[in-house]
Amino acid sequence: MKLHEYQAKELFSAYGVPVPRGKLITNPWQAYDAAVEIGGERLVVKAQIHAGGRGKAGGVKLAHGAEEAAKLAEEMFGRVLVTPQTGPAGKKVGKILLTEAVDIEKEYYLAILVDRTAKKPAIMASAEGGVEIEQVAARSPEKIILEHGSFTGDLPPFTARKIAYGLGFTGKQAGACTKMIQNLYRLFFEKDCSLVEVNPLVLTKQGDLLAVDAKAAIDDNALARHPELRGLRDFDEEEPLEILARRYGVDYVKLDGRIGCMVNGAGLAMATMDLIKLNGGEPANFLDIKGGANKQNVINAFKLLTADERVEAVLINIFGGIVRCDMVASGILEAMKEIAVKAPIVVRIEGTNAAEGRRILKEADYPFIVADSLADAARKVVAALPGGKR
Ligand code: ADP
Ligand code: MG
Repeated sequence: MKLHEYQAKELFSAYGVPVPRGKLITNPWQAYDAAVEIGGERLVVKAQIHAGGRGKAGGVKLAHGAEEAAKLAEEMFGRVLVTPQTGPAGKKVGKILLTEAVDIEKEYYLAILVDRTAKKPAIMASAEGGVEIEQVAARSPEKIILEHGSFTGDLPPFTARKIAYGLGFTGKQAGACTKMIQNLYRLFFEKDCSLVEVNPLVLTKQGDLLAVDAKAAIDDNALARHPELRGLRDFDEEEPLEILARRYGVDYVKLDGRIGCMVNGAGLAMATMDLIKLNGGEPANFLDIKGGANKQNVINAFKLLTADERVEAVLINIFGGIVRCDMVASGILEAMKEIAVKAPIVVRIEGTNAAEGRRILKEADYPFIVADSLADAARKVVAALPGGKR
């Protein structure tokens, strides 16, 4: 679950990490009063969308005085921002954070994330902040500091200090930076985050350290033990089909292609997507109905898949280990009683009761394309796309 900047900043504050003063507004009429309340000569108007790179896309604007801040906020509401992280469709602005502008001396980068290779939380920092960190990593990897944390929830002071000194801080600022890193680490750990990112972490002309931007994501699997965080989910920012998938209990990720996939097992689902690409196609989704799926799961998953209007061909790839192939086949037919499917459907089923499953599909009214191997299925589904590959 991704958080908005304003939500992440509230968490930061609760953990003693300093952030600029700000106020969230959810409609244009609140803008002027909020700007007056924040006060100051310079304010920053910031679109709250679940994507970074807002600055370059016109989603972060500097205003002189409350009048201009209100005007900029009014213009920003309802705009669609396209950033490198939103995808081509962009995101519509429905919430805006008005915040005081700080006098920037220098921008830094700081993040805590999960290093899957090291199987540990990692703290990543760089004195080259404000810009996209991927570029720094590609251009000058020596400018990135990487340290690992432990699973105790507390980062040893010497690790945090090493990073602070590595960023070039000394004296009082090194102390402030050390404390900030430790506090963010505690937040990361206690709230079961998959990511906490501060870009930029700002050193002001007055010599203070502030988190000027804030990003955080909570591990969905840990939400059960964080009732206090559940209300932070912004459904407007999420893919409707992914919301539905959560309710159905299937793992689903929407992608950009035209071939809808229904597979059991995450590994098989990834192999299926690879083979589709190998044959020149693009999957429309990742969908894992999981090993122990029952008939209702199959029906729900099939509905989910075909509810995506971009899906022009379907590939069903089931290996019947725990699930029975005949149950999957009759689940598909039952779902098709309720929904009118026009897309060609390629089916590859193997394993327990596979012959029975294939018989059910062959005898059905619908012209299923039955494949006899995974490679054959991938080839057939790409060939079945109306208008050819894309
Ligand atoms: P994004 O990462 O989505 O582009 P940021 O919040 O990082 O959005 O803002 C982009 C840039 O705008 C920052 O790197 C910083 O230079 C400037 N900026 C953002 N907020 C403030 C602020 N409160 N005061 C001064 N400058 C700011
Ligand atoms: Mg940023």
